[in-house]
Amino acid sequence: MNYEAVYKRSIQDRDAFWHEQAARIEWHKPHEQVCDHSSPPFTKWFAGGQTNLCHNAVDRHVPHRPDQPALIFVSTETGTEQIISYGQLFVEVQRMAAILRNMGVGKGDRVLIYMPMIPQAVIAMLATVRLGAIHSVVFGGFASHSLASRIDDARPKVVVSADAGSRGGKVIAYKPLLDEALTLSQHKVEHVLMVNRGLVPCVMVPNRDVDYASVRQDVLDAIVPCEWVDATHPSYTLYTSGTTGKPKGVQRDTGGYAVALAASMDHIYCGKPGETFFCASDIGWVVGHSYIVYGPLLTGMSTIIYEGLPIRPDAAIWWLLVEKYQVNVMFSAPTAIRVLRKQDPQCLKRHNLSSLKHLFLAGEPLDEPTARWIGDAIGKPIVDNYWQTETGWPILSLARGIDPSAQPRLGSPGVPMLGYQVKLLDDLTGEELTQPNQKGVLTIEGPLPPGCMQTVWGDDERFVKTYWRSFKNKEVYNTFDWGIRDEDGYYFILGRTDDVINVAGHRLGTREIEEAVSSHSAVAEVAVVGVADEVKGQVARAFVVPRDASRVADEPGRRALEAEIMQTVDRQLGAVARPARVYFVNVLPKTRSGKLLRRAIQAVCEGRETGDLTTIEDPSALQQLQDAVKH
Ligand code: ATP
Ligand code: MG
Repeated sequence: MNYEAVYKRSIQDRDAFWHEQAARIEWHKPHEQVCDHSSPPFTKWFAGGQTNLCHNAVDRHVPHRPDQPALIFVSTETGTEQIISYGQLFVEVQRMAAILRNMGVGKGDRVLIYMPMIPQAVIAMLATVRLGAIHSVVFGGFASHSLASRIDDARPKVVVSADAGSRGGKVIAYKPLLDEALTLSQHKVEHVLMVNRGLVPCVMVPNRDVDYASVRQDVLDAIVPCEWVDATHPSYTLYTSGTTGKPKGVQRDTGGYAVALAASMDHIYCGKPGETFFCASDIGWVVGHSYIVYGPLLTGMSTIIYEGLPIRPDAAIWWLLVEKYQVNVMFSAPTAIRVLRKQDPQCLKRHNLSSLKHLFLAGEPLDEPTARWIGDAIGKPIVDNYWQTETGWPILSLARGIDPSAQPRLGSPGVPMLGYQVKLLDDLTGEELTQPNQKGVLTIEGPLPPGCMQTVWGDDERFVKTYWRSFKNKEVYNTFDWGIRDEDGYYFILGRTDDVINVAGHRLGTREIEEAVSSHSAVAEVAVVGVADEVKGQVARAFVVPRDASRVADEPGRRALEAEIMQTVDRQLGAVARPARVYFVNVLPKTRSGKLLRRAIQAVCEGRETGDLTTIEDPSALQQLQDAVKH
């Protein structure tokens, strides 16, 4: 099939297109209207229809594939492997739903899930939506004040948690963090359901904390039917990564999300019923919600839940799992591939990867050297995909499920996915940029397709004010990313809109400069930020993690490499883009989802307060920057 034609139809004949897509899931009651956009920018997809996410992810598959693995749990942290078939998942989800129901959880109530990557976390998500309740998954291991603010925002009836998670062999006790968060929060939680893995001793609070294993014994035969909810009923809330500031609470619907994910599995990820999906993310992020849990299960695939690092016991672990479980589709982030790239290349050759069709990467710009390296190493198509917590599924990628001959273009996440009316706008005038190779703000004309955010949880006004602009009587959604489209319609993401550097009147994306810097063979990773400068307005500064630290062990070494990197940028982009300084560090500050915290780097360079850092992975990374800058 021809991508252009299908895409065009998804825009021009929108309702007919999505009406057909709706048949991918089962409905209790069919919709009366495909798209109700009568009160923009709000959109109601499949209004009048009723369905249930858990029914579509679990119940509906049980007659067809009772013994097929639904969840394949692998923990290299605890040395555990466990397979849960669709038949078993059906039983376990009802047990969990019965426990939650006994705690008073019903339609519209919130259940906060603060858990490591274990099957019970997924079971808790499914059980929540089964009851028509709304889950709010908070990344396990977040500090107590981050957790407390999310508890206050979601106001959950129940928190589901576990004694501990583990990362790189280090056990992280969750319960003390949760206890502290529950003291800090204004909202009072009635019940805490604890999954005790036996990793650390756990002090249970009487009349509040309940041990999952023991209450499960009381509900072994539980039958808990799915609560049919309106297509527009919220299924969950989830926070953005906090890369640009305070995280935003995204609210997602039920029917539109199910339809969009089922369609994306077919059109983009080429995942088929009975196949195996391995998404090496975390359920605390949107990628985990959509492509560890719901996307694969809605499709009747087996999904791998992996607790562990990509390099433990060694850098072959992912590929070992691909071979062992015959993984067909894999999904990860560029940051993880950069980690692998620093390891022994032989690790990628040890296993038979013949089952694997594609490797998808998302979350951050995929630079050319990284894409090329992993593509050569595993010999599979590497498909970038660009999206946001807000959208729930890709905005830009390749629709290889529609046109298998679509070829990835290095450096570009691809073309608009079905239903997304992507436009580049001039950030000053708001005019649409229709010519190729013009830089602008990436926006989406409303209505957003199914699966995208409904609103900011509890704050419609913030939703409208944050994301939407009215332009020539059209409502456009701002991605806050800065991009460019080439002659063939491929988009390139140049960075966040607040990362655009203005050097003496030239507007440059940090991403462009980073691409140039990282093309130098000594560079493992780089972050470029714009820093206020009295003469030029702004100048670029680069922070580089060298592939080999010994090259920058002394001042002459640092100076020499700095000069080489500057020359590389001069050659590729011209002297305007040349970083005023190149600093060398061992680690860059990132969010826990692996995104560069450029705004924190910029703040350090300009001697300002770093702002909300609740989602930072390693606070010591900032100290290193400070030292490098002072040097
Ligand atoms: P916050 O909105 O709280 O500041 P965040 O934007 O990092 O955090 P996410 O929703 O997790 O939160 O990330 C979406 C953003 O990640 C996109 O807007 C874009 O900047 C970046 N991104 C995601 N995928 C890609 C990709 N394939 N290429 C380039 N950038 C990407
Ligand atoms: Mg964002």
